[in-house]
Amino acid sequence: MRRWTPTDLQTLIDSLLADGIRVLGPRVGDAAILYDEIDTLPIGCGDEQAPGYYRLTARHDQSRFGYNLGPSTWKQFLFPPEEAIFRVQDGEFISCREQPEKMAFIGVRACELAAVSIQDRVFMGDFTDPGYASRRENLLLIAVNCSQASGNCFCASTGDGPAVGVGADLILTEVRPEDPYYLVEAQTEAGQWMIAAVGGPVAAPEEIDARDEVIAATRQQMQREFATEGIADALLSALDHPHWDVVAERCLACGNCTQVCPTCFCSTTREHVNPVSLDVTHMRGWDSCFTADHSYLSGGVVRQSVKSRYRQWLTHKLAGWDQQFGLSGCTGCGRCISWCPVGIDLTEEVAEIRRPL
Ligand code: SF4
Ligand code: SF4
Repeated sequence: MRRWTPTDLQTLIDSLLADGIRVLGPRVGDAAILYDEIDTLPIGCGDEQAPGYYRLTARHDQSRFGYNLGPSTWKQFLFPPEEAIFRVQDGEFISCREQPEKMAFIGVRACELAAVSIQDRVFMGDFTDPGYASRRENLLLIAVNCSQASGNCFCASTGDGPAVGVGADLILTEVRPEDPYYLVEAQTEAGQWMIAAVGGPVAAPEEIDARDEVIAATRQQMQREFATEGIADALLSALDHPHWDVVAERCLACGNCTQVCPTCFCSTTREHVNPVSLDVTHMRGWDSCFTADHSYLSGGVVRQSVKSRYRQWLTHKLAGWDQQFGLSGCTGCGRCISWCPVGIDLTEEVAEIRRPL
């Protein structure tokens, strides 16, 4: 394990950029932490989160990773919100698939890494989405162990965090935010290459202990608990539970929860027609199971009520995914709780639905 300074972190970013790699990471924008193209990391940013509440705050220290998750997810770069699949020009079908660029994600949290591996299962499992697969093959994942939990995090309950699991190329741990240093571990050859590009001394044993202390403190900070055992059966046997009506009274069917969720993968297709040339481009874009159109079949909307749409979302994520992909669709990131305009909290809704009548 190596010990890096903030300058070493910047050296990593500079060397990735010099190699022509698109570096994506946190930046401050729209009063939140967003994921975007970066050439440096924001300093001293924190946040406060509660159901239906997110505020960016100043930490007054030198931390580069002292914030929790904002509304952005990494899925926007692997499964873009809108993507041209093919176009029809003069009666000829032409693929719109582009040569994938090399990307590096910096600051991927444990729950987000788990979300990427869930989407891998969706897009590169029994059926392969060629666009997703080619972007995924050209990706470097630089993860970071969380050094604090937000009020909405529950990754310890889902088993996806706060310690980064397998799948990252490099794992960072930020220690001592007032004057930080970084413990750096490689999980892959690409990670070793990144360490070799930056150098840095081998970490001392007491510094390695600091990594475990950071993770343990984050785990202890997590206020929210979520009972996952037997959850699929519990939800599927409670499809007529009266609490679905209670939550439907509050839910606006706005779809915010699905847009910020790092694992939701529903999409729809539409045609863009050029009014002059009459060329047609076939587009794929994110959709949400909260829209009426999403369940439009054979001349009718199947899920007409908000209740049926909320129930579909929750039971698919926490039960149907298990049947389809062999895992839950929730990694405990808490985004859907923070960004729900009415503060609906799936951990509380599930607890109510699991409560015996
Ligand atoms: S369902 Fe909510 S908490 Fe779970 S992964 Fe999606 S956004 Fe995060
Ligand atoms: S649960 Fe909240 S975020 Fe999701 S659709 Fe309903 S109101 Fe919108």
